Amino acid sequence: MQIIEIYKSLQGESSYAGLPCIFVRLAGCNLRCVWCDSEYTFTGGKRMRLDDIEQEVHRLLPDGGLVEITGGEPLLQEREAVPLMDRLLGAGYTVLLETSGEQPLERVPPQVVKIVDVKCPDSGEADTFNLENLKWLGPRDEVKFVIGSRGDYEWSVARMAEHQLARRCGAVLFSPVFGRIEPRLIVEWMLADKVEARFQLQMHKFIWDPAAKGV
Ligand code: SF4
Repeated sequence: MQIIEIYKSLQGESSYAGLPCIFVRLAGCNLRCVWCDSEYTFTGGKRMRLDDIEQEVHRLLPDGGLVEITGGEPLLQEREAVPLMDRLLGAGYTVLLETSGEQPLERVPPQVVKIVDVKCPDSGEADTFNLENLKWLGPRDEVKFVIGSRGDYEWSVARMAEHQLARRCGAVLFSPVFGRIEPRLIVEWMLADKVEARFQLQMHKFIWDPAAKGV
């Protein structure tokens, strides 16, 4: 597989936030979100065999725990990413998959926690979520909306209702685009509208330099 980096940090953007986690960051993305903070994943990386990736995860976290497969868009390398997820599950890890939901989720092992980052209009990639994927979302999975404006917020609330996401998934997450909107505004709108979502911040951006890689 083409890998950008494998490192240990804190999970920062889901209901697993705050827990130690190994990130396996895959190269390549087919979207171009305007506020993307991972442009360095678009090209390059190094070729690694599944054995070597598994060994590196084990070296960094020998006693089990969380491993997140992320990118870029990790499902662009589905042919190898799915066997990798199977191996990590088999080795006793809890496996998270961060994806935009544009690629099919059908072949993702059901034990994997899918964190689907549905792109809002301000990202420039709205409506890229593949609606066919709704049937592959279950109670362990999470849907995230990264919100940059009131328009994004209203769009997210509407998509939540339209697809009954609070009932379908384990968590619906609302998160501000870092540096683009006052987090307080989203919280106040959510409280006023009684939205059944969990507010979150990108925790790692408050702990380390917001532009830092590998954290
Ligand atoms: S899907 Fe993720 S990696 Fe790809 S452009 Fe959007 S934010 Fe960047």
